[in-house]
Amino acid sequence: MSCNFSIAHYESTLRAALARGYRFVRFGDETPGAAVLYLRHDVNFSLAHARRMACLEAALGVRSAYFVQCNSPFYNLCEPESREAILLIHAAGHEIGLHLDERCAEDDEDLEAFAERMYSIASPIIPLARVVSFHRPTAAVLGRTLEGFVNTYETRYVGGARYISDSRKQWREGCLCQVIAAGPDRLQALVHPEWWNDADRPAELIGHDILETRIEQLQAYMGANCAPLRLIMPALACAQGRR
Ligand SMILES: [Zn+2]
Ligand SMILES: [Zn+2]
Repeated sequence: MSCNFSIAHYESTLRAALARGYRFVRFGDETPGAAVLYLRHDVNFSLAHARRMACLEAALGVRSAYFVQCNSPFYNLCEPESREAILLIHAAGHEIGLHLDERCAEDDEDLEAFAERMYSIASPIIPLARVVSFHRPTAAVLGRTLEGFVNTYETRYVGGARYISDSRKQWREGCLCQVIAAGPDRLQALVHPEWWNDADRPAELIGHDILETRIEQLQAYMGANCAPLRLIMPALACAQGRR
């Protein structure tokens, strides 16, 4: 199969990793030996994509870690649908961590205090491990050990392990399947669930679809919670009528 961002290629890549004997391990666990794979997913925009990927992985017997944001405008950890998706991902055997955005830290807050504050907000809502990844990480977090949290950018995971990412829908160092075929002893792969769909789609179209879905959710909420606002959105009248 040629390389692309289809969910079918993702599945065949995971099968290849299993066939090569890779062990899918948790961040924070002691994992001596070779063929260690830390599979990580930062969820920036779509828990629906994350949920689908988590189910596929679980069906293959693959364990990974999903990192969710407290401050994403695309999903809200308290929304029933979002929480349900996260609980399902967790029940499928995956770990849930926080995807922290350093730009949300208070001026007088160090990274530990920031991580602790976000953890204290989210941990009563979702099953959360004390492991964090950073959204658009700056030099301040790279190689940094945090008191009380495992940081996926610690040197044991970046440097101590080979690190590759599909950020911007691009494998800059070759597709994950090629890296797995080369067989590094220790590998951290960051896979953004949004990029992976039935067929490979241009990033801007994926973004458009996710945006449209979110707008529909917001419109449905607005209409369902304030009668006059249903009138300004005739396209939603049918959807509201069914509620
Ligand atoms: Zn490939
Ligand atoms: Zn991110």
